[in-house]
Amino acid sequence: MIVMKFGGTSVGSGEMIRETAELVKREKRQAIVVVSAMSGITDKLIDVSKRVVDLPNNVVEREVDNFCRELRVHHQTAIMTAVSDLKERSTVLGKTLETIEQLKVALLGVGYLEDLSPKSLDYIMSFGERLSAPIVAAALTSLGVESVALTGFEAGIVTDSCFGRARPRNDLMKKTVKEKLDPYLSKKITPVVTGFIGADENARITTLGRGGSDYTASLIGRHLKVEEVQIWTDVDGIFSTDPKIVKDAKLIPSLSYMEAMDLAYFGAKIIHSKMIEPAMVSNIPVRVLNTFNPNSPGTLVVKKQETAESVIKAVAIAKKVVIINLSGVGLMETPNIAGRLFSRIGGANINIVMISGSSESNLSFVVGESDVEKSMTLLKEEFEESNIVEQLDLVRDIAIITVVGAGMQGAKGIASRVFSTVSEAGANIIMIAQGSSEVNISFIVNESDVGNVVKALHEKFIK
Ligand code: ADP
Ligand code: ASP
Ligand code: MG
Repeated sequence: MIVMKFGGTSVGSGEMIRETAELVKREKRQAIVVVSAMSGITDKLIDVSKRVVDLPNNVVEREVDNFCRELRVHHQTAIMTAVSDLKERSTVLGKTLETIEQLKVALLGVGYLEDLSPKSLDYIMSFGERLSAPIVAAALTSLGVESVALTGFEAGIVTDSCFGRARPRNDLMKKTVKEKLDPYLSKKITPVVTGFIGADENARITTLGRGGSDYTASLIGRHLKVEEVQIWTDVDGIFSTDPKIVKDAKLIPSLSYMEAMDLAYFGAKIIHSKMIEPAMVSNIPVRVLNTFNPNSPGTLVVKKQETAESVIKAVAIAKKVVIINLSGVGLMETPNIAGRLFSRIGGANINIVMISGSSESNLSFVVGESDVEKSMTLLKEEFEESNIVEQLDLVRDIAIITVVGAGMQGAKGIASRVFSTVSEAGANIIMIAQGSSEVNISFIVNESDVGNVVKALHEKFIK
């Protein structure tokens, strides 16, 4: 049994949905299919939600109508190409209309109440996958592969209630996933599960964070103990750096879980940063494959750390991050400043991406751009009474560059070679961190230097 996850571009049009269905049909093992929304749809759902909140009431309805019409046409067009069986086609067309009606009600609510909570946004974002999964299931059934579309909830994906970045409740899922999927699997029916979305214990829809369909796939894989989790996407596998940025990036045939996790965590969008962990705890191989070039061998992520020919296998880039800098004389003399800071920020479910070594009077850490405002509010609240923190500064327009390779473990002088390459490329290093796993070194440079630095690192260590 395997899990096959198809990303947004793999289900981005009627033609692609047909290709995807063909790939599933060709697979001889029992598959659980996980799908993303059609490409671009999640962004559009976020966009329209934010737009209608700010619109005057008398234009909300028109805006929502226009959006829903566009969405309907987009999915109907895909259905006409992807679903050849006429009965299946008419059923899925009907279901699509019904689903869009539900979305319309939600958008009108948000618009009229002028209130977009993280909970409402999760509910609205879920419509991308709730529209794509039934089309993929109908395309499969048209090809003679009996299948059923399920929401994350219907497939047993239970999370906490942290809307927008929900965490899986593995304690419950070890029962629910099997319980919900077994009735189909035992009848050889292929489940097509919406990626990205789950529900909390009260059945309220949650999402696992952007790009979270990969995470759904590995969670299902873990709880069903499958043979392999396949991530089907739009490039041949995991490359030494984003192949859309560096033209001669190299395909990496095999990576360890730790290497893949570090790469994803530090910005390689190819897989979701949390998806490796569930696979790793159950020792399930993850294979990244190309829907547009299915015969390419792809990248295999496994436990064993291959002895690489090159010490550094890959370079990841994370943009849209900001440094928050706290300073004040005697900052570090005051007990538990760091503890208070991290529990306050962490308690609000904000991810601290990187922390710099602190000095007596200075402490810096990095968060995602979308978390800056909230972090600043929390820090001001936490420290406003005391005068320990004299200043809070932000450093923007920066990027984290991370070099990853299991071969760095124990190898001498790698860091200094990396940093001299960066300075030869003319860039200034703003902050440094080395992971304790020793398979990565991360540092921050100005965003404008990213291109040069990545090319230089590539030339020196990978090519
Ligand atoms: P999907 O919609 O299939 O989940 P994503 O857009 O989330 O696809 O991820 C695939 C993209 O990740 C690629 O098109 C590529 O531009 C980008 N990417 C970033 N870093 C890497 C890397 N190291 N190797 C391969 N692709 C990468
Ligand atoms: N559709 C979601 C997103 O765009 C999840 C995913 O594609 O993995 O973030
Ligand atoms: Mg993705």
